[in-house]
Formats: sequence, C-alpha cells, structure tokens
Amino acid sequence: MSKLQAIRGTRDILPEESTDWQTVEETAREILQQAAYREIRTPIFEQTELFERGIGEATDVVGKEMYTFVDRGDRSITLRPEGTAGVVRSYIEHNLYAAGGVQRLWYLGPMFRYERPQAGRQRQFHQIGVEVLGTDDPRADAEVIAIATDIFKTLGLKNLHLAINSVGRGDDRETYRQALVEYFTPYKDDLDKDSQDRLTRNPLRILDSKDPKTGEIAKNAPSILDYLSDDSKRHFDRVCALLSQLGIAYELTPTLVRGLDYYTHTAFEIQSDDLGSQATVCGGGRYDGLVEQLGGKPTAAVGWAIGLERLIYLLQQLGKTSDRALDFYLVSRGDRAESTAVLLAQQLRRTGFSVEMDLSGSAFGKQFKRADRSGAAACLVLGDAEAEAGTVNLKWLKTGEQETWTRSDLLAKADELREKLR
Ligand code: ATP
Ligand code: MG
Repeated sequence: MSKLQAIRGTRDILPEESTDWQTVEETAREILQQAAYREIRTPIFEQTELFERGIGEATDVVGKEMYTFVDRGDRSITLRPEGTAGVVRSYIEHNLYAAGGVQRLWYLGPMFRYERPQAGRQRQFHQIGVEVLGTDDPRADAEVIAIATDIFKTLGLKNLHLAINSVGRGDDRETYRQALVEYFTPYKDDLDKDSQDRLTRNPLRILDSKDPKTGEIAKNAPSILDYLSDDSKRHFDRVCALLSQLGIAYELTPTLVRGLDYYTHTAFEIQSDDLGSQATVCGGGRYDGLVEQLGGKPTAAVGWAIGLERLIYLLQQLGKTSDRALDFYLVSRGDRAESTAVLLAQQLRRTGFSVEMDLSGSAFGKQFKRADRSGAAACLVLGDAEAEAGTVNLKWLKTGEQETWTRSDLLAKADELREKLR
C-alpha cells in the first residue's frame, strides 16, 4: 500500500508553527477591529462563473490556475483562488449596500491555485484581506494601506517597501493602451510568449511579466502616470499626500498594473527584501467597476490581500516566533492523587489558568522531566499524602523553588498567583 501524504502544494501547519499563525491572526484582528472592520466568512467554493467574471478570463489566475470541477449535480464549481469575488458576490446577494454608507469588511482563509509549488508558492495558501465598499474617497485607499502597514509594523517586520501606482480609469487607459502597443511592437520577437499574446489582447499586462528580458524592455515603456485624466491624477495625488502625512514611505512604480477594466486608480504591493523571487506579501488596489461587473449597483471599492505563508516565513526569519503559554504542568501519582488532580485541573482552568495534566501514571521522576520540557511556568505536584491533606506542592520551573499551597488558597488567591506566573 502506498504511503498517504498531503497533496503536492499543500502543507500541514503543525502545532509548533500554529502559534505563529495565531499571533499573526490575533494581531491583524485587533488592528482591524480598532479600525471598525467587520469579519465576513464566505464559502470556499463558488460557481466558476463568479471568478471568470470577477477576476477576468484573461488573467493567469482564471486562465491557468483555478481548481475547477464538475460536481454531482453537473455544476461547474471552483475552489476560490482569492477572496474579493466571493465577498462582492455576498455583498450584492445580501444587499449590503442597502444598509447605506461604507462597508468595511475583512476575511481570512485558505485560497487555492494550481501553480508550480516552490518557496512562497503553494496550491493551498492563506490570505487575510480587507474590502472597503461604497466609497471612492482617496482616504479609504490611504486607510487600507495604513492598516496593512500597521499589521506588519506591529509584528516587527522590517525591510518592506510599498510600491504604488495609479491605473486611472477605463477611458484613461484607452490612449495609454495604444501607446504601449506602439512601444512594444518593435520588440515583439524579444518578448516572452505570453507577452506576445498580450500585445493585442491586453498590453498593460506585459508590464506585469515576470520574464527578465520582457521586464528589461518594459522599464522604458511609457508611464501610465503621463496618461491619467485630471480626476484620476487628483485622486492619486491625494492618496500619496495622505500616505506622506501618515509617514508611510512609498515608491512610485508605473509598471505596477492590473489589466482589467474594473480595476481603477490605486494599485499597490508591499514587498520584502527577504523573500527572494516571491517578494510580494500584500497586493491590493481600487476596483470601482467590479460590483457592477458582478451584477450589483455601481459601487466604488478598495481592498488588499496579504499572503500569510509569506508573512509567517518573514516572522520566522526574524526569530520572532512565539512559545506556547502554559501556566501549570500537573503531576500526580497514587489513586487518590490522580482523581484529585482531575478535579484540581478543571478548577484551575475555570479560574483562568492553563493546565496540562500528566496522564502517564509513571514515577514522579519521569513526570518531572516532562514538566521541564512542557514550557510551563510551574509544576504542581500531588501525591496521595497531599491529596489527603488538601495541599499541593508548587515548584517554579525556572528557579527550582518550591512552595506548599492549600488547594483552596490556590483558587482563592488566583490573582496573586497570576502575577507571579507572568
Ligand atoms: P504573485 O505575483 O506572487 O503570483 P499574485 O499577484 O498572484 O502574486 P495576489 O493575487 O495579489 O497575488 O495575492 C495576494 C498575495 O497572496 C500575494 O502577494 C502573495 O503574498 C499571496 N499569494 C498569492 N499566490 C500565492 C501562492 N500560490 N502561494 C502562497 N501565497 C500566495
Ligand atoms: Mg500569482
């Protein structure tokens, strides 16, 4: 029989690592809550058509990377490759615009893309993302960028850069598109295969090519910033001014584009120097045309998504990984002691302590060794004599100091004890 293994491109997040995930999730959650964002949870699979219309058939994600299958009811289903399309579908379906005002939403969960697995690139990966729906105010663009920056900063990450651009609106892009075709056509034979195809279909996306030779040629391409309408320019200038006011450094990057019509104005990425070729940890921008594209009322919107595997890799590089927090390791031996331990563990947990109870029934010496390895602040020791006397021995694992407590004091003086455990 062959050995069963996780599917290529997927990974188990084992307990030693899940604490890092929890740290990241808690940090993000707190920052989002402070900014009045509310969580939305949408299904992991959706109708395939949603992504075709919501991401665009001309993109790599839809063209090459989707996990699509036909279910038992003959429907074409796709595992979500990203979060925005589902959130917008839900926003329309549940009339969230009818609530009026701005919806500030966030989500977190697994995404699926059929890509070549490598460092920083998996087939199941995780994103946390935000979407602000119902406003075209440049302050919203600045707000979402500031939140992403805050999450990274609070986690202690360094060497990150914000690359930003404006892709204007559909009509600004028409003349720009022609300028690009004129510029790239003489180089046609030197472009990578995909970019040659894009020359007629979607020349903006040539700027996005990861092929080094194409990238070299693209460096001197005309800049979209020279083709923006006055309105678009005003929007972008305001976003940049707000970022400066917030002390957020940015780099104008005219090659940063999203090639589809429903992407408008701001496009940005946050990149790390420490990630090699998979450098982007956060990608986002404005998509004022998407809600309408998916059948809703015209609704301006802006958002981003952070790739959590890449973020956690950066944290681990910095050695910023978290230990588990355990207050007590509870050791017991003897019939009476063992049943008293079950009760004591439960009482302590209800009082707010974390307690791991040794279940081995082995000699005290062996249990003490496990206590040392447990990462607990203190070991509680119960033998039959202590059980009888209503006491427990408490040993501080860092110093080896020991104290005798009555069990009722342990619970009654929980606050005092908690101070010492910190
Ligand atoms: P890339 O250029 O790296 O393929 P992308 O433009 O496809 O990225 P987005 O769709 O903007 O990425 O997704 C936002 C973030 O999600 C990325 O910046 C990255 O951190 C993360 N991400 C995207 N695809 C993967 C993947 N296959 N594995 C791990 N993380 C991913
Ligand atoms: Mg990709």
